[in-house]
Amino acid sequence: MRHSTQRNTILNILRSTRSHPTADWIYNEARKELPNISLGTIYRNLNQLATHKMILTIPIDGVIHYDGFTHDHLHFICGECQNIYDVEIKAEEVASMINNSIDHHVADSQVNLTGTCSTCKPN
Ligand SMILES: [Zn+2]
Repeated sequence: MRHSTQRNTILNILRSTRSHPTADWIYNEARKELPNISLGTIYRNLNQLATHKMILTIPIDGVIHYDGFTHDHLHFICGECQNIYDVEIKAEEVASMINNSIDHHVADSQVNLTGTCSTCKPN
C-alpha cells in the first residue's frame, strides 16, 4: 500500500477514539486537517485500510462503523444510546469454545453483544 497523507490522517483519527465512528464522523474530523478531502476519498481509504486489516469494520443495522484497534476483541452495543463499547475478550476464544461444544468449524468470528450499558441501565 502506497504512503498517503490522507490515509494516515484517517488512521490517526480512528486510533485517537474508542467510539467506533461512522464514515460521516471521520469525514468531519478529517476536514479539520484536510479541508478539501471528499467523502468519496474517505470511503476509498477506509476500504483500503480494511482490506489491509489495518482497521476493523463493524456493520450495525446497515451502517458500517470503523475501529482503529484491530486486536482480537468483542463489541458491546447499547440498545438505548447506540454506543459501541470494547469488550476485552478474544473472539478467537469464543470461537474455540464453540468448536469444542459443537461439531461445526468456526473459521472467522466477529462477536457483537447487545444490551443496555451501565450509563443507560436503570438502577
Ligand atoms: Zn472495538
